[in-house]
Formats: sequence, structure tokens, C-alpha cells
Amino acid sequence: MSDTIFTKIINKEIPADIIHEDDLCVAFRDVNPVAPVHFLVVPRKPIARLQDLGPDDQALIGHIHLVITKLAEQEEIADGYRVVVNSGASAGQSVFQLHFHVMGGRSLGWPPG
Ligand code: 5GP
Repeated sequence: MSDTIFTKIINKEIPADIIHEDDLCVAFRDVNPVAPVHFLVVPRKPIARLQDLGPDDQALIGHIHLVITKLAEQEEIADGYRVVVNSGASAGQSVFQLHFHVMGGRSLGWPPG
């Protein structure tokens, strides 16, 4: 998998507003937020799309969800927020390094577009 803009953020080659880092993932604020709180949680492991996950990734994905719950508390959106993964270009994915959008701080409509 070729490097993406998120690889460069993870490697600190370009700046981002990082709110969490650990051995498995990095979280930073989206540069173009669609809600008052909008951050991305990105595994360090290069995985292009959700659809590319394998059996070895089970613990990683569980870990990311626990990180999301902690960051939701930290960002004061724990009462209501949305987690979105766009998997594939036709779903709106534009950066091909797996990432979990976490959005909150306003009422979120359903269904999404
Ligand atoms: P996708 O469309 O792939 O699901 O989401 C990519 C997200 O990454 C978009 O919400 C976009 O605003 C965000 N993004 C793209 N480039 C950068 C960047 O250089 N820095 C940050 N912080 N976010 C970015």
C-alpha cells in the first residue's frame, strides 16, 4: 500500500491536531470538520479499506472502539456521537488508509446521505 496523507501525519511528517496516540492507533481532528467535534482514529498498520481487514486485525478493531469511547468522554460528546467508516470510493472514501470518523456536538440526522 502506498503512503497516504494519514501515513505522513502518523509519521509526523506533516502536522495535525493529534488528540491521542498509542502503539496501535493515532487520533487527530479532521481538517474539514462536519460537526463541532470531528476527529479521525487511524490504525498505524497500513490497511487501505475496512474491507481489507483480516482475522489478525480483530484485537486492533476492538482496541480502536475502546479508544473512541475514551475520546468521546474527553471531547465531551459521550451522550451522543456517530462513528462512520467509508469503505471504498463509491461510499465516499477519499483517503485509502482505514480511518474511523467520530462526529458529535450537534444533532445528527438519519439516514446519512
Ligand atoms: P474519507 O472521505 O476518506 O472517509 O475521509 C477523509 C477525511 O480526511 C475527510 O473528512 C477529510 O476532511 C480529512 N482529511 C483529508 N486530508 C487531511 C489532512 O491533511 N489533515 C486532516 N487532519 N484531515 C484530513
